Amino acid sequence: MTRRVSIFGATGSVGLSTLDLIRQHRSKYQVVALSANGNARAIAQLAREFDAELAVVADESAYAELKEALAGTTIEVAAGPQALIEAARRDADWTMASIVGCAGLPSTMAAIEAGKTVALANKEALVSAGELMMAAVRRSGAVLLPVDSEHNAIFQCLAGGKIDQVRKITLTASGGPFRAFSLEEMRAVTPAQAVAHPNWDMGAKISIDSATMMNKGLELIEAYHLFPVGLDKLDILVHPQSVIHSMVEYVDCSTLAQLGSPDMRIPIASALAWPERIATTCKPLDLATIGQLTFERPDQLRFPALRLARAAITEGGAKPAIMNAANEVAVAAFLDGQIKFLEIVALVEATLSAYVPDAPKGLDDLFSIDAGARHYARRELEKLTSGN
Ligand code: NDP
Repeated sequence: MTRRVSIFGATGSVGLSTLDLIRQHRSKYQVVALSANGNARAIAQLAREFDAELAVVADESAYAELKEALAGTTIEVAAGPQALIEAARRDADWTMASIVGCAGLPSTMAAIEAGKTVALANKEALVSAGELMMAAVRRSGAVLLPVDSEHNAIFQCLAGGKIDQVRKITLTASGGPFRAFSLEEMRAVTPAQAVAHPNWDMGAKISIDSATMMNKGLELIEAYHLFPVGLDKLDILVHPQSVIHSMVEYVDCSTLAQLGSPDMRIPIASALAWPERIATTCKPLDLATIGQLTFERPDQLRFPALRLARAAITEGGAKPAIMNAANEVAVAAFLDGQIKFLEIVALVEATLSAYVPDAPKGLDDLFSIDAGARHYARRELEKLTSGN
């Protein structure tokens, strides 16, 4: 039986890795919908290669180019935010949510509300919508398959176990490119240095998040929702080799870990074939060559994003959505050369203090909180840039 799959964010790092796996197992998968933001040429090429039913660009100004690129084929073409939502509701057995940022929330929620099996890479959507998304999962009977390597590892370690028999969940973190930098050295790092992750090849935004360790903060919130053991049972451990992707300790003090080479195609393959397995061409783990696996506690002083994430979970309400939105603004500003590296998290913290809306009761509230947080973050950004 072929599995009908849709990929949102198909032109990105996770999307392309997903398609790479499908390329190796063409008879097992049929591509339904593929989406990009404005990259019409790339999405058209992928839609042709995988004989997709539908190609969608979120950015309406890219529609004409996409239409022209797919002229003479039977592939349907659509554009705009509503088209993404409709594509997410289309008949598919498996949906990859790999748009970057909160921009992925509407299509991810649409797939969830339609009761789909959703492979979730788009962590910002879950961080922002938290309880609302998990309530929609329970209501619709959707299945969420975590794709983030840590959460996929935990998901695999929990298979056959019981969540109420978990003593502790440990998310591992590489520590990013500045793990061993002093605060003084971190002050001067450039976007080029920050996107150059030592172990993983990823999109620009998540690479910067890894460098500030905001990524681990977002992942803590993600884990809090996906694996309901309570915040006090969630731990973070720096493990620079990125071989152990996370661990689950049970009440009998038995710890299960998932290991693998740092290649996103491994967790994606696990979600793509779930509950089966498919072969990959990834590098098998060679522990004798790796020799040593090391661990250290994260430094909260140099990486304050971890403290902000814990506080956002504890305070709840709008805090995680504000933290996420402000971080998106700050990361874009850093990549654009407007602010310095250490100002990314400082801007997030300032936005969290300045903007204190009521907790969201529904998705509409959430979208207005997201917009409000971006507005406040840009105000903080102006203050910073006028001083820089
Ligand atoms: P990329 O930046 O590589 O790709 C982003 C994708 O989203 C592209 O297809 C892009 O289209 C599309 N996109 C960007 N903005 C919008 C928008 N406003 N509306 C609709 N589509 C948009 O990101 P990654 O693949 O690195 O990351 C995707 C998600 O997966 C993120 O949430 C990230 O945190 C998560 N993740 C990524 C990992 C990785 O290894 N890369 C690991 C674990 C999680 P276009 O090409 O047209 O710009």
